[in-house]
Amino acid sequence: MPIILLIIIILTILLVVIAMRFQRKRFRQKLKTKAFNPQWVLILQKNMTLYQKLPDELKCRLHGLINVFLHEKTFSGYNGLQINDEIRVTIAAQACILLLNRDDDFYPTLYNIFVYPGAFKSMQTTSDGLVNTLKETVRTGESWHRGQVVLSWKHSKQGAQNEKDGQNVVYHEFAHQLDNDDGRIDGTPVLNSAEDYKSWTKVFSEEYTQLRDKIAAHKKTLIDGYGAESEGEFFAVVTELFFERPKLFKKEHLELYKELEKFYRLNPAEWF
Ligand SMILES: [Zn+2]
Repeated sequence: MPIILLIIIILTILLVVIAMRFQRKRFRQKLKTKAFNPQWVLILQKNMTLYQKLPDELKCRLHGLINVFLHEKTFSGYNGLQINDEIRVTIAAQACILLLNRDDDFYPTLYNIFVYPGAFKSMQTTSDGLVNTLKETVRTGESWHRGQVVLSWKHSKQGAQNEKDGQNVVYHEFAHQLDNDDGRIDGTPVLNSAEDYKSWTKVFSEEYTQLRDKIAAHKKTLIDGYGAESEGEFFAVVTELFFERPKLFKKEHLELYKELEKFYRLNPAEWF
């Protein structure tokens, strides 16, 4: 193939990609400013305690993000669950809380949200270092690398309604999605600068080690012991605390709180 033809093909592809991105950005902007369905406001008021605490400006931004999220992601019900607006809006709102102040690309590798009525069975591979074993476990949520999040509706709703227990399966699974933006769930999402990576790594590895030590010594911890499973789980678990019990979390883990405040560009302790 002549070199000039190859250059024309590459330039055409580039132009198409740029045009598509521009179109998508414009369409998202339209959805963000589109009037929010008043029925959906009622759903949020009924199901999401944190929604009522948000400053008006953030409430308004959340409405726009939900519009985009619901336009771009599909929901499928399993085990007889019929997907309705209550399910879509309650889950989308929690997923979008994590994006409220970030200029994010709306979980770009996520396409589908699978919802079960309650906890569901899942096959998981565990390893003792030598042998891999496939085992059936009961789960309330899962985040997959290839475009899916799986959730229990019962636990997603409970998580939204109870902001005091520090547990929220939707924040947890969508934190894994953010973490996976660089292709790895390792507790370090994409950050802005080398300086940010340096302080994140320092604070997170210290706190993670402390949690592991405390769990091993059977000590009580504010951070859920599940966070000691891996760095990826640690980031997901502290994200739950950051939005659910920000004041106490800030008091007990100030440096960790500050890292999350920088990452999410939000200070939820102010909302409580
Ligand atoms: Zn997890």
